[in-house]
Formats: sequence, C-alpha cells, structure tokens
Amino acid sequence: TSFGTANRTPRQEETHPLTWRLRDDGETVWLDEYRQKNGYAAAQKALTEMAQADIVQQVKDSGLKGRGGAGFPAGVKWGLMPNDESMNIRYLLCNADEMEPNTWKDRLLMEQLPHLLIEGMIISARALKAYRGYIFLRGEYVDAARILNRAVEEAKAAGLLGKNILGSGFDFELFVHTGAGRYICGEETALINSLEGRRANPRAKPPFPAAVGVWGKPTCVNNVETLSNVPAIVANGVDWYKALAREGSEDMGTKLMGFSGKVKNPGVWELPFGITAQELFEDYAGGMQDGFRLKCWQPGGAGTGFLLPEHLSAQMFAGGIGKVGTRMGTGLALAVDERINMVSLLRNMEEFFARESCGWCTPCRDGLPWSVKLLQALEKGQGQPGDIETLEQLCHGLGPGKTFCAHAPGAVEPLGSAIKYFRSEFEAGIAGTAPAGQPETATVSV
Ligand code: NAD
Repeated sequence: TSFGTANRTPRQEETHPLTWRLRDDGETVWLDEYRQKNGYAAAQKALTEMAQADIVQQVKDSGLKGRGGAGFPAGVKWGLMPNDESMNIRYLLCNADEMEPNTWKDRLLMEQLPHLLIEGMIISARALKAYRGYIFLRGEYVDAARILNRAVEEAKAAGLLGKNILGSGFDFELFVHTGAGRYICGEETALINSLEGRRANPRAKPPFPAAVGVWGKPTCVNNVETLSNVPAIVANGVDWYKALAREGSEDMGTKLMGFSGKVKNPGVWELPFGITAQELFEDYAGGMQDGFRLKCWQPGGAGTGFLLPEHLSAQMFAGGIGKVGTRMGTGLALAVDERINMVSLLRNMEEFFARESCGWCTPCRDGLPWSVKLLQALEKGQGQPGDIETLEQLCHGLGPGKTFCAHAPGAVEPLGSAIKYFRSEFEAGIAGTAPAGQPETATVSV
C-alpha cells in the first residue's frame, strides 16, 4: 500500500511538512531531487546558524510528540540527555523496527523519503551532541534497508555525513542496523540490547536510555516519523508548526494516519492532528467496501482498544481518542467488518502477542498463552462457565504497571474492549450454549 493522495488538500510545503516532497509515482526521492526540493536547507540552518540549545528549545516549544505510539513529548526526552560535557559519547537511535500490526507508515517514509529521516537525524544529533547514530530497522524491511544504505552513501559522498558536515565543524556518523524481525525489538530497551548483540529482552526503566543507553552511554531513542518532523520545525518555526493542527487538538503538527481492513481506499495520509476519525474513514479511506458494514475499529494498531462506529466522531489526537476510551497508538486504524467474529479476531491477535512475548516476566509469558487457550476453546464453542471472567482477570493482571514493558498491556487492551462491547459473542462460545456461528477467518497483518 502506498501513500494515498490527499483527496481534498494537495500535498504542499505549507501544509504537509513530511510528505510534500513525495513523488506521485511512489519512487524514492534521491539526493539530487531532495536538494532541488530545498532538502538539507534546514540542516544547513541548524548546523551553521543556530546554537545547539536553540534547536532543543525549538523542538520543546513545538510540542512535537513521539510518533511511535506512546506520544511522549520529544522535547522533554531531548531535555533529559545530560548536559555534562564530560559525557561526550552519546548516541541517537532511530527506532525503525515498525512491527505493529496494521502499521506501515515508517516504511513508506523510509522507502520514499530516506533523506528526510537522515536530515532529521543530522539536526537532532547536533541538538543532542550525539556523534553517532543508528537506524534500527525491522529485519523484514529489505527494500527500506537497501534504500537507506544507498541514501547514507549519497549523503556521505556529499559531505552531509562524516567529518565537518556542511563546514560546520560538526561530525556525525550514521549506520543502518537491521534487526532480527521480532516485535519486542521495537521496545526501546530491548532494541538497545539487540543492537548490542544481546537477546532482545526489555531492560528495567529507570534508568531511561537518556541516562544509560547503548553501551551504557546516554542515548536518545526516537521513532522515524518523529525525527522526520524535525527539519520542518527548524526551517519554518514553532508557530507555523503548531498552527498545522486543527482547532481543539492538544497535539501539534500533522500525523501520518491511515485505515486498513475492508475499506474502499486503504492507505496512509499526512493529516492535521484533530481531524475526526469520521473524516479519515469516509473522506480518505472511502468508507466500507460495498456489501460490508463497519462493526468496530481500532485507532492505531493491534495494541489499541476497539471502538464502535459512533466513536468515529472523536478527534484524532491522543486526548480526543482517549476521551472515547483508548489510546491513539500509531494512528493507522483498522476497520473490522460485521462478518468478523470477535472471538476469532482476538484469538488471532493474542496468538501473535503470545508468540512475540520475550518470556522475561511471568505474567506476560504465562498469561498471554493462557488467554489464547481460553479464546481457542470459546471459538470452538467449548468454553467453560467462568472463562470470560478469567479473561477479564487476565486483562487486569497483565495491564499497565504489572509487567516489565508495555507488551502485555498492549496485548490485553483490545481483548478488554472486545469483551466490553461484544460480550454476547464470547458468551456464545461457552459449551452448551448456541454455536457462535461460522465466523470468517480473521486475519491480523504481521
Ligand atoms: P512509554 O510510554 O513507556 O514510553 C514512551 C517513551 O517515553 C520512551 O522513549 C520512554 O523512554 C519515554 N519515557 C516515558 N516516561 C519517561 C520518564 N519518566 N522519563 C524519561 N523518559 C520517559 O511507551 P513505550 O513502552 O516506549 O511504547 C509503548 C508504545 O509503543 C505503545 O503505545 C504502542 O502503541 C507502541 N508500539 C508501536 C509499535 C510500532 O511498530 N510503531 C510497535 C509496538 C508498540
């Protein structure tokens, strides 16, 4: 799936800071074309005209939040990097291990605009005083790996990476590291372990990576889309950036948002924070395909809760989606059609989460396979009285704060909301009750 064309607003520099340089044919924008489109002008400004602390301040003031799913303020994270000059080894680590089911926005950015990410990393590294950067890339993203490696070589040859970048005296090396294709590698501390060649188990936090990261040194971990926002903020300023979002949104700028499932026009679009989910669903994704009706939807990946069609009136920003009961996550929504049986869909999802658990902490290692067993039984109409209550207990016992990392809480968020809204489908799976019907096989793209 490619970037959708913005139906109502053509992609323009003024309104589409991330995607205005895209080519209509979906091919990669290589260095010459990127520079023709004013590429690396922001890096030139940041490296030669701005003080390091001013870049940090600008990102703080812009309100830029992390785009990996959690939405932590990027400027706050940057501000946590030690200012102590004696800690002169620091790293910038780009989390490109995009493996959230139904989320493919970072892949498109990296494949089509690799220099935007590289420029964002150069500016961010200068702001954070990092002398080395890594892009930790999902192992299956083979095209993105090839494209990023070629783009890094282009940038090196043009003096945009390496020693004395753009004559500024700033040195920065950038490496592309491909991961081993496990979901848990995207958890930032598991990612650091994996980069160091260790098993990808999450580390306890605190200490956060800003204090103890790669090789024990201060490390700033940011998502691909987050870093790709930095050049436009530096080039155009904070007021312009903030004004991009719709009124009522507490999140600033634009967001790559999408819809998949049985919609007419699945895709990803760069849209202002604060548009309603209804606009995203109807005006961009085109609504449901003929013959299908929307049963429920998830706003941003398998680790977000299900919402009902009436919740489409919610605004797409963390607080707007939060108001109707779940997290916005990655902003790439999934439409579930009426023919899908929720027990089957959840069984499929929990199989994925159970398989991808690193096994380090007991609730996650044992709890997720237990949920799969219960869901398998319910799916076959062989559930026992009390199974739904056990699933609800698991949702509680694996929820936020009960495990080492956010894997299990993410896994049970869709489960809890599915039971809340579609309890009768779970009840129909208890032995001795009417059969649940013949659900279409549910799929989760992984
Ligand atoms: P988190 O909320 O624990 O942390 C988010 C970021 O903020 C981290 O970088 C963390 O270090 C930082 N942070 C949080 N509290 C801090 C503090 N007190 N001091 C300093 N830094 C602090 O979330 P997480 O575990 O990093 O990520 C969970 C999210 O990841 C979920 O929301 C999910 O949607 C998303 N996710 C995305 C993908 C994907 O492919 N994009 C895959 C899996 C999960």
